Formats: sequence, structure tokens, C-alpha cells
Amino acid sequence: MTTTRTTKQWQEADSKHFLHPFTDHQALAAKGARIVERAQGVYVWDTDGNKILDAMSGLWCVNVGYGQRELIDAATRQLETLPFYNAFFNTSTPPAIELAELLTEVAPEGFRHFFFSSSGSESNDTNVRMVRRYWDLIGQPQRQVIIGRNNGYHGSTMAGASLSGMSGMHAQGGLPIPNIVHVEQPHWYELGRDMTPEAFGLKAAQTLEAKILEIGADKVAAFIGEPVQGAGGVIVPPSTYWPEIQRICRKHGILLISDEVICGFGRTGHWFGCQTFGVQPDLITFAKGVTSGYVPLGGVMVGERVAKVLIEQGGDFNHGYTYSGHPVACAVAVANIRLIQRLKLVEHVRDDVGPYLASRFEELRDHPLVGDTQTCGLMGAVQMVKDKASGTPFDGDLAVGMICRAHCFANGLVMRAVGDRMIVAPPLVITRAEIDELVTKARKCLDLTLADVKARGLI
Ligand SMILES: *Cc1c(COP(=O)(O)O)cnc(C)c1O
Repeated sequence: MTTTRTTKQWQEADSKHFLHPFTDHQALAAKGARIVERAQGVYVWDTDGNKILDAMSGLWCVNVGYGQRELIDAATRQLETLPFYNAFFNTSTPPAIELAELLTEVAPEGFRHFFFSSSGSESNDTNVRMVRRYWDLIGQPQRQVIIGRNNGYHGSTMAGASLSGMSGMHAQGGLPIPNIVHVEQPHWYELGRDMTPEAFGLKAAQTLEAKILEIGADKVAAFIGEPVQGAGGVIVPPSTYWPEIQRICRKHGILLISDEVICGFGRTGHWFGCQTFGVQPDLITFAKGVTSGYVPLGGVMVGERVAKVLIEQGGDFNHGYTYSGHPVACAVAVANIRLIQRLKLVEHVRDDVGPYLASRFEELRDHPLVGDTQTCGLMGAVQMVKDKASGTPFDGDLAVGMICRAHCFANGLVMRAVGDRMIVAPPLVITRAEIDELVTKARKCLDLTLADVKARGLI
């Protein structure tokens, strides 16, 4: 223990002064926050000394696991040498240059230019400005509309929240901003069980074409989507979905943005999710896994089509952040990417732990509460339902997911609940033995949840 205060003292100070993201503060104050104090590998410890298997990699980001010496040393060295310098006014720094160069090694073919920010949200704001600038420069300024998807997640800034298709976010503060619209998500279990996944994948993708025709293709700038929806509940699209999206974007000349904030840097078993699904986007959003979350960094990979116009015809692009190319963040990203390469973590996910997680999750389908499971690389979802045979969901107000999440915490496992879908995205360094522990704990928590819903007469 390294703590200097009791858990209760931390909790009191926390609810007095700290406004948390996406949080009901009265409910939090009543319960008290769990105070996470230290971590190693795939485990975190709270101030009560509980050891918890972090099956969410912090928040989808700690891909190389906690406590990696190379990243710590890279940050320390850079803090000592040059903690900050900007990249405005004809200046640059070695770590930012090195990172941009290194990214050409791991990015999908055709990506040779990189813009840096400090988060996924900022990166998507950059995308909105960059695609509109692109269309301005090529003489089609009327192409303003960007199309996202229901239940997609692209961040929480004004543009990020607008691109997201989360009704709870749009209900607050007059969102989405103008010229951002949404189409259907490829969530087969919820929306398409009356057809094959393949047929539904095409149908979901074709809602994009219908929307383009409704708006007029000459007004549409871009489509944005996550290869696998993360915050929406680890929704793995049917195999037919992305090729059809690609076809539609090409047919109408629309830019395709792959938001790889979660899927990037190995999560799906390739360096980028678009490679897993065989898609060639024009722009790629990244953040989270680029530094394994050790320090904040995000950015946009800019493909040739847009880069050429911006660079050769653009003049000043009046956009950027104080921390664009932050030297400490970039130094950590370089160390992180080299570590992913050295430990062969992408191959580890693709050939070993990804398929292993898939087979262990499939076993959970025999559980009375489980209607379906899905995985892609090291992302997984367990869909809990009221009636297994018909797939009938629980009434949303019952918050069965929250009941299960509480059991998980109490039993040493972080699983997140999205409605009644329990999701995981463990660090890429996880071993088969640790996956066994994860699945054993998950099953136990499903049992405890089942006992609860039975006791309350909900099933
Ligand atoms: C987390 C996330 C974002 C937002 O990133 P922040 O760093 O929280 O701003 C954007 N897109 C996707 C796909 C994400 O998962």
C-alpha cells in the first residue's frame, strides 16, 4: 500500500471537489468511488487492497499492460530533456518527428502523414475541420454533411459528441451541431435477428446509401464509423457490412473515416481494425492505444487523397492544438509502438489470445442469462437477455447490466456494462491463464446476477 489516506477520506474529498465524466454525482457521493491506487500487468489494486483483473485496459487504452519500464523511461528521459515545446511557427521536436516516421511503418498502406492532438475527441474535431477544408479546396464547398451511426462513439467535444450517435448525449446541450446526421448501426442481435447476419450487414450498410441519396451526394463530405463499435457495446459487424460501406463511399466520392481510437494498435489482431475488415479509409482517427494510455495523445492519419490537397493546394490550415506533437506524449508513443513490435503483440492477439478469448466466450453461451456472445481480437461482449430462446431483452429500467457489473467489481474483475451487454477489452499482453481467470470470474458473476434477477422475480 502506498496510500496516504483511508479509502473513506479519499471518497469524501472526491465527492466534494472532483466532477467526474459521465457521472451522476449524487449517486456517486452516496456510494463512494472505488479508489484505484496502483497497477501491474493486467491487474489494478484499490485502496482497500483488492486485486482486480482489469478486463477493460483502463478505458480501452492500456494495451501493453501496466508498469512497462520502456514507457516510463521514455517519459522520464523526455521530461528531463525537453518537457515541452510547440510545433507551431516553423518549429518541431525530435520525438514528434520520430513518431510520425515510425507511424509510417505500422499504418495501413498509403498513410504517410500524421496530425497530432491529445485525445480521440480532439482528433475527430480535426477530422470535421479537415474534411470540410478538403472539399473547400477542391471547389465543392457545399459538401458539408458528415454521416455517423446510431450508437457510434466518437468523443465528447461538440463535434465528437455530434458525430457520436448516443441519444443521451444528444439530449443535452443542443446536439448534434448542424450538418451531422446518423444512419443505422450494424447490430445484428438487436436489429436483425429475423435475417442472416450477412443479409443484415448489407441492409445496415445500405441505410448509408439511402441517406446519401436523401441529402444529395453533392452535399455529403464524409462517413465516419468505428470498425467495431466500442462504447456502443462491442458491436462486431457482419462480414458483409464494411465492404458495402466502402463500395457506397467510393460510388459517391465520399471520404471514409475509420475511427480507430479503440481498434487501432493491435486490438483486433491487425495493427488497425480497417485491415481486419479489409477496408481502405481516407482518414484514421487514433488515440488511447497509441500510448497505451500512459500519457494523453491522439491524432489523425491522413491518407494520400486528402494529404495531397491539403499540402499542395492548402496553404495555411488554420487549426491545431498547443499540445499537437507534445514531446513527452510522442516519446511515450514511440516506446509503446516499439514495445508492441518487440513483444509481437499484434500476432499474439491474432494467433493466440484472440482466438482463445473467442472460444472461451462461446462457452458462456450455455449460460441461462446469455443470449449471444461476440468477440473480435481482444474485444468481447456477452449479451444478457430475459428469454434465451427468443432473445427477448430485459426491460431497460431494470439495469441488469449494472447488477452484473457490481458483482464483477466485488469479485475482482472489471467488466463494463452497456445496457445488458457485458463487455471486455483486456490488455493485449494478457495470457491464456489470465483469460481463464477472466472467464471463470465472468461466469461466477453471471450466476450471481441470475440468482439476483430470479430473487427479484425478473425472469
Ligand atoms: C474513446 C473514444 C473516442 C474519444 O476519445 P477521448 O480520448 O475520450 O476524447 C473517440 N472515438 C472512439 C472510437 C473512442 O472509443
